[in-house]
Amino acid sequence: MYKRIVVKLGTSVLTGGSRQLNQPRMVEIARQCALLYEQNVDVVVCTSAAVAAGRAHLNFPALPPTITSKQLFAAVGQLQLMRLWEQLFAIYSVRVGQILLTRSDVENRQRYLNARDTFTALLEHRVLPIVNENDAVATEEIRVGDNDNLSALVATLVSADRLLLLTDQPGLFTADPRSNPDAQLIPEVRKIDETLRGLASGSVSGLGTGGMTTKLQAANTARHAGVDVVIAAGSEPDVILRVAAGESVGTRFPAISTRLESRKAWILAGPKPAGRLTVDSGAAEAIAFNGRSLLPAGIRAVEGDFLRGDTVLIVDGERNELARGIAGYAAADLRRIAGCRSDEIEARLGYTYGDVAVHRNDLILLTD
Ligand code: GLU
Repeated sequence: MYKRIVVKLGTSVLTGGSRQLNQPRMVEIARQCALLYEQNVDVVVCTSAAVAAGRAHLNFPALPPTITSKQLFAAVGQLQLMRLWEQLFAIYSVRVGQILLTRSDVENRQRYLNARDTFTALLEHRVLPIVNENDAVATEEIRVGDNDNLSALVATLVSADRLLLLTDQPGLFTADPRSNPDAQLIPEVRKIDETLRGLASGSVSGLGTGGMTTKLQAANTARHAGVDVVIAAGSEPDVILRVAAGESVGTRFPAISTRLESRKAWILAGPKPAGRLTVDSGAAEAIAFNGRSLLPAGIRAVEGDFLRGDTVLIVDGERNELARGIAGYAAADLRRIAGCRSDEIEARLGYTYGDVAVHRNDLILLTD
């Protein structure tokens, strides 16, 4: 039995495909989460459907399709959503607390730790955290953007064992099941490659933000943080209980690493990468297989305008993501020392922060 599980509920699950919240569905979800809670499993719910609930509560007004209209719906709907969750969990004597996050709440390490402390305090006091993005005020720059990636961030933040992404599909298929009767459910994914990304990009779900693409991104982040991920249908009977018990349901992405130490987890899930370093094959191998730091000598190209201490993505010549890490030099400096031997750094810049561009301790591998 998993001990700490994050359950992400897509808008399609919570509305059952309609234009408003589907209460019988939500009771069923609350019942399953409460049963787990009784068995001392820590459950964190990541809920969507604030915007959908707000629109329904205001009786579908014809507002312009702007961000502000969405924020208005979110402000109204978040309240409706939480009121309902509170009532439904109260049936099972489970108390709930609300956490509204944006990317900027976890971008810096101190704030990340503060958020983690709040989750820990709630769980320690047997209060079930219910999370959503702070849609009413979040602007594009500070948003996570979709609840799939938000739930991966939360799973990393609380060091969950398992992340369950519930949606309107039974999982990932070998082809689009709506147009291809031979499409088969993929029970387990160990490698997220271009073929799989291609398969995922064709899928969409009704009212929510993410399709399978954002689910794959979320699964990829979480599995590198040591979290087992499952994508399954919210309509599947007892799906939460069965997944928590380790039964094979939907598509599973086994955790790749063991749990990451807290600082590395933050690098992986907290700040949005501010730039990208393309490295040559020698450096790619040194990082991916030999556990080495990235030296300026191996850097071919520097994109973005980041500062020393910002998070960057490290990619190979084919733009495959190899790692995420904290830059030891600002972008402008790296452009001047890319391709140089480390003993030339000082001569080029007039100062040095050391031999490495990204230190191995500040580096999280993203390879399979
Ligand atoms: N946070 C949005 C909402 O509550 C949903 C985002 C998503 O579906 O990914 O409406």
